[in-house]
Amino acid sequence: MMKKQEPPLEELPPWLDEPSEWFKYLCRSCNYTEWVQDIVVYGFPPEKPKGTPVLDCRECGGELAHPPSEPVILSKTDPNVVP
Ligand SMILES: [Zn+2]
Repeated sequence: MMKKQEPPLEELPPWLDEPSEWFKYLCRSCNYTEWVQDIVVYGFPPEKPKGTPVLDCRECGGELAHPPSEPVILSKTDPNVVP
C-alpha cells in the first residue's frame, strides 16, 4: 500500500496574507487619531451612503470620524503599533 502524499504546507492561508485597509480616524472633539482596520469600518453602518461610520473616541468619548481628506493605507500589520 502506497503512503499517501501529504500536500505541501503553506506558511499562511492566502486570505491571511492579504493586506488590510486602514482608515485614518480623527476625533472631532480632541486631538486623538487612530488607524481603524477595514473589518471594523465595514462592520458598522456608515454615517452617509458609501461613507464611513462614526466611532467612539477612546480618549474623550466624542465622535471619531474618517474625513475623506484623510488617507487610507494598505498594511499587513497594525499601523498604530510602531515598533
Ligand atoms: Zn476625543
